[in-house]
Amino acid sequence: MAPKSTPGRYLRFRRRLAQWYRRHGRDLPWRRTRDPYRVLVSEIMLQQTQVSRVEPYYDRFLERFPSLDQLAAAPASAVRESWEGLGYYRRAANLHLLAQEVVREHDGAIPADPAELVQLPGIGRYTAGAVASFAYERSAAAVDTNVARVIRRAFHPRSRAAGADRRIWETAARLVPCRGKAAWTFNQAIMELGAVVCTARIPKCGECPVRAECRTGKSVNSKRYYLP
Ligand code: SF4
Repeated sequence: MAPKSTPGRYLRFRRRLAQWYRRHGRDLPWRRTRDPYRVLVSEIMLQQTQVSRVEPYYDRFLERFPSLDQLAAAPASAVRESWEGLGYYRRAANLHLLAQEVVREHDGAIPADPAELVQLPGIGRYTAGAVASFAYERSAAAVDTNVARVIRRAFHPRSRAAGADRRIWETAARLVPCRGKAAWTFNQAIMELGAVVCTARIPKCGECPVRAECRTGKSVNSKRYYLP
């Protein structure tokens, strides 16, 4: 029988996920920092772009623009040039505008509140939650494509129609721990699970740490499946 979504189940899901992440989470440069500017740059670069592609750009960009102030003061052409090859150039333009706005309106300090972050250029609901959680260890939900897929499969496997997004964000908000450090770990861990285990076409249910709490994983037998 599929597991019910009770507080106990959320707790078990979180615990299993955190234990797995501590052993298997990848060591990525933006996971070694809480610097809001560095976290922000990584989140903008990772939008629609794979980790392996972002890593060299991330280091180079930060060497060229080591602080938000330096980015804000740079000419637009230099920012665009440093993004050359990474694609989706609108992101570079928005990041530049964001830096200027933060210097002008927030004395150079990137806000910690998702409601303020989402007002800045190029920042959507996911990125606002991610920056709040990864830079400031706020208890904020951050639902990107990978996270949405894990939550849908684990908690709402039949939810594809209107209202699915809202339900997934609500479940994410219930799952995120209240304590900031634990919230940081949870958000990193669920993203990691979606990136390397609960992948888009062939989830590795046989290797999945939260299978016992997953509605989809509980209903399948073999190790790998093609899922929508
Ligand atoms: S058990 Fe399978 S479907 Fe469920 S979260 Fe894990 S990999 Fe995804």
